Amino acid sequence: MAERAHVTKNGAILLGDNVACDAYDKRPIRVVTHAHSDHLYGLRKSVKCCEKVIMTPATRDLAEILNDNLNLHQESIQTLEYNKPLKYGDEKITLLKADHILGACQTLVEDAGGIRIAWSGDFRVEGTEPVDCDVLVVEATYGKPSCRRNFNVDVRQLLVDMVEKSLRGGTVYMFGYHGKLQEVMQLLRSADVQVPFVMPERVFEVTKVCENHGMNLGPVSLSSDKEGHELLDGNLPCVAFYHMNQRAHVGLRNSRYCVSGWEFQKPCRQIGDREHLIALSDHSDFDGLIEYVKRTRAKQVITDNFRSDGDALAKEISRRLGVSAVAMPRDTPQTTL
Ligand SMILES: [Zn+2]
Repeated sequence: MAERAHVTKNGAILLGDNVACDAYDKRPIRVVTHAHSDHLYGLRKSVKCCEKVIMTPATRDLAEILNDNLNLHQESIQTLEYNKPLKYGDEKITLLKADHILGACQTLVEDAGGIRIAWSGDFRVEGTEPVDCDVLVVEATYGKPSCRRNFNVDVRQLLVDMVEKSLRGGTVYMFGYHGKLQEVMQLLRSADVQVPFVMPERVFEVTKVCENHGMNLGPVSLSSDKEGHELLDGNLPCVAFYHMNQRAHVGLRNSRYCVSGWEFQKPCRQIGDREHLIALSDHSDFDGLIEYVKRTRAKQVITDNFRSDGDALAKEISRRLGVSAVAMPRDTPQTTL
C-alpha cells in the first residue's frame, strides 16, 4: 500500500490524492473537522486557493463566530451533512460524526482502489462510532499512558451536584473553552437546573449557534444587559459562564468551577478558596484512543505529532495492537525534548 496519508510540517492531514484537513495545503479540497483554532490553520488561504472548503453547517457557523472577519459564506465553502458522501474525481469524501464540540467530524476518503483512509479529528470515544478504515490518522492529545481517567464516579453528576449546592450561596461562575461551556449548559439543563445562565457576548454568540443547531440551553442573558447586571451585581442564583481566559478577572469572591481535560488524578480538585477543577474532557483519554484505533481495524496508523506529542501513542499502538504506527510530522518542536 503506497503512502495514502501524511501529516505535513504545517499540520495539514493529507488523505488520498485530493484532501487536506485542518490546515492549508496545496490540494483542491480542504476539510475543517471542527471549529477549534488548532484545526483552522490557514483557513483564509484555503478559502481563497482551494476549489472547495468542506465542513458541517454547525462548524461553519461556529468558525465564523470564533474568527472575526472570516466570511464562510463564499463560493468555495461547501457545507456537508454527516454521512453524505461527496465525489471528487475518483475519490469519495464523507464526514462522520465525532463526539467533541458541536459540528465535529471524522473524515473518510475512499480512493479509486477502494482503500479507506481516515482522519479521526478530535473525539471522545464514548459518543463516537469509529470509522472503519485501512489507513488511519489519529489525534494524540492524551496519547501518553499516564493520561487515564479511571474515576469511579460519574463526573457529570458530580458537577451537577456541586453546582446545585453552590447556587444556594448565590451566583456560580463556570470557566471553560468554547463548546465545552455549552456542553456544561446542556448538562445542567438536562439535570433540571433552571436558574438563568449569564454570559459575555462571545460566549452568548456561540451559545446561540449551538441553540440554532438543536441544543436546548435557555434562558440565557448577556452579562452586559440590565438583567445580567442585576443577577451578577446582586449575587443572585444564576450560573455565569466565562471563557477560561477570564478566570483572573471575574467572580473572584464566588463559587467557581473550571472544566478541563488536563486532570487525571481526581475527578474534582480544589484549586482555590472557593474554586474547583472538574475533570471534564472533550477528548478521549489514553485508553479511549487505543480502543478507538482497535475498533477502526486500521492496518496502518499515523499519530498527529503536530497538535500534540504523538510518539508515545504510536509506540503503544504498535506494541498493544500489533499494528504499524508512526508519528508525523517528524522533527516538530513537541518531539525535541
Ligand atoms: Zn478540538
